[in-house]
Amino acid sequence: MFKPFQTAAVLGAGVMGAQIAAHLANAGLTVHLLDLPAQSGDKNAVVEGAFKKALKQSPPILFTEKTAQRVILGNYEEHFDRLAKVDWVIEAVVENLAIKQQLMDRVEKTVSKETVISTNTSGLSIASIAAGRSKSFRQHFLGTHFFNPPRYLKLLELIPTADTDPQVVERMQWFGRMYLGKGIVIAKDTPNFIANRIGMFVAMLGLKGLTEQGYSIEEVDTLTGTLIGRPKSGTFRMADLVGLDTLLYVSEHLHAAVTNDPDRDMFKVPDLLRKLVETGSLGTKAGQGFYKKVDGEIRSLNPKTFAYESAKPLNLGNIDGIAKLPNLAERLQKLYHHKGRAGEFFRHAILATLAYSANRIPEIADRPVDIDQAMRWGFGWELGPFEIWDALGFDTVLTDLRKAGLAIPAWIDQMRQEGTTGFYQENGSAYVPGEYFVPLTAATDEIHLADIKANPKAVLWHNSEAALLDLGDGVVLYDLRSKANTLSIKVVDGLLEVMDWLETHDYRGMVIGNDSDNFCVGINLAEVGKIVQLENLNPFNRSHKVIAELLTKVQTLVQRIYYFHKPIVAAVHGRALGGGCELAMACPHVVADAETYIGLVELSVGLIPAGGGLMRMARWIGNRAVSDAPGDMLPFLKKVFETIGTAKVSNSAQEGIELGFLPPTTKIVMNADRRLYAAKQAVLCLDHLGYTPPPRNPIPVLGQPARAALELMAYVMHQGGYISDYDRSLANRLAYVLTGGDLTAPAAVDDNYLLGLERDNFLPLVDSPKTQERILHMLKTKKPLRN
Ligand code: NAD
Repeated sequence: MFKPFQTAAVLGAGVMGAQIAAHLANAGLTVHLLDLPAQSGDKNAVVEGAFKKALKQSPPILFTEKTAQRVILGNYEEHFDRLAKVDWVIEAVVENLAIKQQLMDRVEKTVSKETVISTNTSGLSIASIAAGRSKSFRQHFLGTHFFNPPRYLKLLELIPTADTDPQVVERMQWFGRMYLGKGIVIAKDTPNFIANRIGMFVAMLGLKGLTEQGYSIEEVDTLTGTLIGRPKSGTFRMADLVGLDTLLYVSEHLHAAVTNDPDRDMFKVPDLLRKLVETGSLGTKAGQGFYKKVDGEIRSLNPKTFAYESAKPLNLGNIDGIAKLPNLAERLQKLYHHKGRAGEFFRHAILATLAYSANRIPEIADRPVDIDQAMRWGFGWELGPFEIWDALGFDTVLTDLRKAGLAIPAWIDQMRQEGTTGFYQENGSAYVPGEYFVPLTAATDEIHLADIKANPKAVLWHNSEAALLDLGDGVVLYDLRSKANTLSIKVVDGLLEVMDWLETHDYRGMVIGNDSDNFCVGINLAEVGKIVQLENLNPFNRSHKVIAELLTKVQTLVQRIYYFHKPIVAAVHGRALGGGCELAMACPHVVADAETYIGLVELSVGLIPAGGGLMRMARWIGNRAVSDAPGDMLPFLKKVFETIGTAKVSNSAQEGIELGFLPPTTKIVMNADRRLYAAKQAVLCLDHLGYTPPPRNPIPVLGQPARAALELMAYVMHQGGYISDYDRSLANRLAYVLTGGDLTAPAAVDDNYLLGLERDNFLPLVDSPKTQERILHMLKTKKPLRN
């Protein structure tokens, strides 16, 4: 049992320091962010300027605006004594050993004996930063290497020194995973640790493709991006984003530091990179690097003339068929055996990467899985090097490595002699040199649906777009697996069927969730579009009977879920939009991943929420206001009107609560891998406590006077040119439903009354050409149309 950190100090408010402080505040800590004192005037000017700049970043670094209140700004001259009271000090100052060492001397003189101290250096030796400090200090000292941006990138490399107390490492491992939501990899104290060492090698391979192998920038980016399960930025767009000066600095540093690495020359800075940095072409921050936007066109660098030219057609042979394959392992295999230039590049690059990774064990890590996880979590690779090796075939790669004359470490030869055919086994074991196959310790507080689905008995029911899975202990999970996780007709029908099943089977409750990218992105617009088209073709059937029936079905469903006699918990994550938001709102209890982007976005496709969303927001207004008096309710009503009217989506689960889309009781889970487990526990807990569904209390609404106030807001927005005619007419419908329709005075109504208003105001919109235009535009471009 460890104690979570509650207070921290971050030294240095630069790119990383400000963001790390923000993320610790996201996790609920009180954080002191300190920087150098300003030379003149207010001594906090440096830190204030730096933090203000960080707050303007996109995507945002804080969960909500209010989170900033937990970041207390200060400077080294006036506020260093604050360090005496914190649980954790993180140093994130400029990458300079002498400066870091001097700072540690001061830290040692200030902190308490129990304080954990860490450095965020990306390349300096951790032990050398603590050199000269006391034994007790060194026992509490380690490297905590966050990746940029720390809120969003999952990897946290922990680098203990020979002196670090194992308990400190364990505590940090636990805290980083549970409270900061990170994937932890323990790295050795070697130059640039694990992910950046391999990542830099791979970046240099891409660069050589351009400078030595005659591939264009676009060709290299195509061959190093999503095609092979890596971020779409590929090699050069990524380099521009990171900054070419940073790239140059890291490669210079690595080249100087890895004197015993036989592949050291790979890190020799290419002339091209040096010249670009010298001429100020530093990448995105300078407006040009390998790419440059000229008159709206993205042009790329001609490495010979240094001019930016329009993209030329790719000369990679036919790879379209490969790119379309949904299965990554299959894409990799096909590309590996591709006869053209694409295959040639890939084989060369991947063999070099696999050989380099294998030869870095045990230098930078003891286990292949550490390198795989570091590359997945730190660089966004779908598969790490050894997983790719497995996908291509252990023997195939080994034979080709030999043919290519690449060095093969003894432990790989040993694997071959043992008759091993891969690094991972289906039973969840992974190869560790010197130990053979070792079970990967599956966390007992995580649920992975692939494991559940592997047991056919655990699939209790399914149709082609959803399934009911047995999570054990009497809890089931309704798993959405429709395209892009939409609320399709099959998902709705399936859920109704499953509710019947749950009535008659001896189970305690249900989780609604899944483990793909999003909880649910809303109704399937293509499906709705098709129905409308068909109905319009039939002149006797213009009343949208099918849509009306579907809507009634959805409303029946959300009400059934809300008032069900067994606990139903939504496990929300990623995007929960429109109908997806309403499905989450239908669940009286929610477990949400901290990274949840939730909102009622129907107006952006010319509709209003009609799956209970407005009814529940009306209830939320009544619950938030201290009384039903119009003066108390109106501010909340206006807030809701604005939120839905502008199709606002939360930037985090915390903000989702503030906006009213998630209940105040939502349990926010920082680590996405723990979400489904936490939701299952929530079902069990609610059941054990003796579950009762929410009471059917009446909902207070304000009637026509409040509607006039909302309509005035829409009028002002319209006059100001912020919204279109159609936006205004949609906003007026929204106002009508939220205030209770034609009621002339405040009144208390029931759920069904508001659901009826939702229906009556949704259905005519389906016929509107402007709504149809919006839907079509969204389907085509995935962007809203403000017509
Ligand atoms: P930065 O240049 O943005 O910020 C450097 C900070 O150091 C600033 O707050 C600055 O005021 C402070 N500083 C400068 N001189 C100082 C001095 N003499 N004494 C005390 N403080 C001084 O740098 P950054 O990118 O935030 O990097 C900070 C650390 O994090 C470095 O060790 C870097 O290697 C590491 N790191 C950076 C990234 C990244 O992507 N930028 C990623 C991982 C780790």
